[in-house]
Amino acid sequence: MVLFHDPRCLDYGNSARPEQPARLGKTVPLLQQNHPNWTWRTAVTATEEDAALAHDETLLARLQQAQDFDADTPWWEDIDAHAYRATGSAMAATAAALNGEGPAMSLMRPPGHHATETQAMGFCYLNHIAVAALHAREHRQVNRVAVWDFDAHHGNGTEAILAERSDVLFVSVHQSPGYPGTGLKSFANCVNYPVRPLTPRGDHMATLEESWQRVIAFRPDLVLVSAGFDAYVGDPITDMTLEKTDFATLGSWLHDATVPVAAVLEGGYSSDLPHLVDAFLTSWAGEAATV
Ligand SMILES: [Zn+2]
Repeated sequence: MVLFHDPRCLDYGNSARPEQPARLGKTVPLLQQNHPNWTWRTAVTATEEDAALAHDETLLARLQQAQDFDADTPWWEDIDAHAYRATGSAMAATAAALNGEGPAMSLMRPPGHHATETQAMGFCYLNHIAVAALHAREHRQVNRVAVWDFDAHHGNGTEAILAERSDVLFVSVHQSPGYPGTGLKSFANCVNYPVRPLTPRGDHMATLEESWQRVIAFRPDLVLVSAGFDAYVGDPITDMTLEKTDFATLGSWLHDATVPVAAVLEGGYSSDLPHLVDAFLTSWAGEAATV
């Protein structure tokens, strides 16, 4: 297991918001304590050229203007640097997976899957997974990329950026009704599975399994996972019912995949987040669960 993290990602925000530094401030030490054999790396930051694979230059310029994007998405000092580092980390995790270094995940903030070509929103400023997918298509021998998004919110930004491409598949399972209100229908290369609030976890997991089969059936050369942990029953900003063991099951599917897989942390706002990530990664790595 190769994990990409930069402690500078804790240097903005505060505990008054769900997307807060403690999410990773508590997750990283827990993983390091429970898994001393896992490899930790800090990626180089992404460049503007990298970000421009998925974003319009107006957004890249806007990141430097000290003005909030929306109520969920404040402007923070150096938010552009934070966003570019998280993008670079997703790209590095992707490269590690493609290089055969095994399971790889980026554990950074801010998350990315709501950011569109032109707009920062929903705690997201740059769309790391979209940049990583497009970079792999342009610069690696990757003909087909599948993005699997199990965050409880629809990855509207990823969908908008990757829509209508025959070389990329986007598959998302998300709460509906729920933020941001998109992802109600499938079209072209975008497959959406809206799930009602308070859907029993067995039904939610059956939908996730069907969605994962869609990913595999695409026969991708690379799978990128928008790993959000906010479909957890204890998450404060959603109404879903998954338990820790369900995230371990998702990890086991990645473990069984025969193509390179990299994951990027998206949401997850419960204080149990460290244990959810641990369960997911432990089964992805094919290791026995710790209690
Ligand atoms: Zn989310």
